[in-house]
Amino acid sequence: MSLHPPSFIQLGSEFFERTEPTPVRQPELLLFNEAWAKANLAPESLPSSALELAKVFCGNQTLPGSEPIACAYAGHQFGHYNPRLGDGRAHLLGELKGLDGSDWEVQLKGSGITDFSRGGDGRCALAPALREYLMSEAMYALGVPTGRCLAVVSTGETVYRQGAEPGAIVTRLMASHLRVGSFQYAANQLGPEATKRLLDYAIARHYPHIDPNDAQAPLLFLQAVAEKQRQLIKAWMRVGFIHGVMNTDNCAISGDTIDYGPCAMLGTFDLNQVYSSIDQQGRYAFGRQPHIAQWNLARLTETLLPLMPGEKQEVLAKLQDFVDGLGESFERDFGEVLAQKLGLSDADKHQELIATLVERMQQQGLDYTQTFDRLTESQQDSSLLAPLQAVLGDWLPLWHEALASEPNGAYQLMRAANPRVIPRNHWVEAVLEAAVEHGDLAPFKRFLKVLQQPYQQLDETSDFQSAKPEYDLSYQTFCGT
Ligand code: AMP
Ligand code: MG
Ligand code: MG
Repeated sequence: MSLHPPSFIQLGSEFFERTEPTPVRQPELLLFNEAWAKANLAPESLPSSALELAKVFCGNQTLPGSEPIACAYAGHQFGHYNPRLGDGRAHLLGELKGLDGSDWEVQLKGSGITDFSRGGDGRCALAPALREYLMSEAMYALGVPTGRCLAVVSTGETVYRQGAEPGAIVTRLMASHLRVGSFQYAANQLGPEATKRLLDYAIARHYPHIDPNDAQAPLLFLQAVAEKQRQLIKAWMRVGFIHGVMNTDNCAISGDTIDYGPCAMLGTFDLNQVYSSIDQQGRYAFGRQPHIAQWNLARLTETLLPLMPGEKQEVLAKLQDFVDGLGESFERDFGEVLAQKLGLSDADKHQELIATLVERMQQQGLDYTQTFDRLTESQQDSSLLAPLQAVLGDWLPLWHEALASEPNGAYQLMRAANPRVIPRNHWVEAVLEAAVEHGDLAPFKRFLKVLQQPYQQLDETSDFQSAKPEYDLSYQTFCGT
């Protein structure tokens, strides 16, 4: 197996630090993403043994072609600007070229300290490494744009968080790790020339339809990134994903989900739902995610101001229009998502119907996934509506009336929008506990298999569908674990 050096290196040395992973004591391969490897790599290019995979994906053994770097970036964390964050516990080793020609950055996370560690230990505990693997694979199968995980290797070392925990390294695959925070770093620390270099690089990598020499390239780029963010947030809202830490350094230019640290899934419908222990103000609550994505895009817009041609006031007005326009479209999007979840093709026409349902779900504390799963299956078997009569009894006939004027049956549309199973918080924690406390990965793998087909009712799916609202009430997630 070999890598291509990170193409990020072409940006120049002020964008990164060359740094080697710190070797670990006793690497053991716990997870390897065979499905991804099969779909993306030539079989003969893979290391043949678990032992070799473990050595490679903990950083003890250097792959030919790898040139490990830690990337610099800045970021607004909970609204407060930090001029220098960067990869404090991650090493970008290089890139893999997929069989379809796509480029994947290969990054180790938990692989030791770098120039950006700021007093952190550079390490990662096993539970969050497994959690990232499980959540990102679940999100991928749900149809949500996301980075992937290639491997989890336990290190045989101890890391100290709330207490002593086993350490691990997770290998992350992304189209790129460019973030809004990368542009903030370039704009604020390096200047317009470096920002232009970064812009050209990001365009070539993610938005090659844009001509970098076009005077409007910065605006076209912003529009393209915004469109990707819209699709991303729509997908999050559709499945009930709460990212938990939508800082600008966790907002990927590719439009993929990045940083699964404190994320969680919505159980009981609540637009104000927050699980992250440090999100005291509810900044990143479920229902605020569209607004926050827009806020992050406004920060990206600021970094490109100096690159926009024309008279300052005019440019400002143009960009302000762009950012304001985003607000309106992000707001409309959730309505569209809910329409789709209800099998309705026209969100505007059914605004009131949708608003009533949202209000009712919020007031009555209905489970988000189960409610839409039930509504979906009721298209095949109307007796399934019985448990919903008490709270939606007067709403259901209105919905049925709306459905009657849909030209095509709603079932397929609804089934594609509404998962049967999601990585529910209590099940995620249960399988992580079995893995971490008892060294038993079997429940994790069973759950993963179910989550890989979230729109199907497999034999084992029903084992993981139950909600546990009382558990979610006190559930808390943590950053930087
Ligand atoms: P996050 O909250 O995961 O987005 O991380 C924010 C910043 O903290 C990034 O610069 C990370 O690299 C850094 N960081 C998080 N955990 C650690 C750690 N254990 N050691 C060093 N840096 C860390
Ligand atoms: Mg992060
Ligand atoms: Mg994190």
